[in-house]
Amino acid sequence: MTGKSLRMLVAWTAQHDNGWVTTVLETPSGSFSAWVAREGEASSVDYAEDGPEHAKRAAEAALKIRTGHAECSNQCSGWTLHTHEVHLEDAEGPNLSSS
Ligand SMILES: [Zn+2]
Repeated sequence: MTGKSLRMLVAWTAQHDNGWVTTVLETPSGSFSAWVAREGEASSVDYAEDGPEHAKRAAEAALKIRTGHAECSNQCSGWTLHTHEVHLEDAEGPNLSSS
């Protein structure tokens, strides 16, 4: 350790039967970013919500609007929880929404 403090933040991803992935990411500032992207492709953040359930719903709504994926089938993975480490030093100026 070099004096940086680490925080564990949570993220959820869900893989859908049409090749798109919905992602919700907790940010160091305590909000939740949500976006959709084709599998393996980067995307900018579509929504910033104040809670994970809102963010998941926002991501699902964005998926429906963009791809017409109205309902998940049993080919979809459902939301899967991940954790990721954030160095607070790196996180002081989060620019998740501006990339
Ligand atoms: Zn689905």
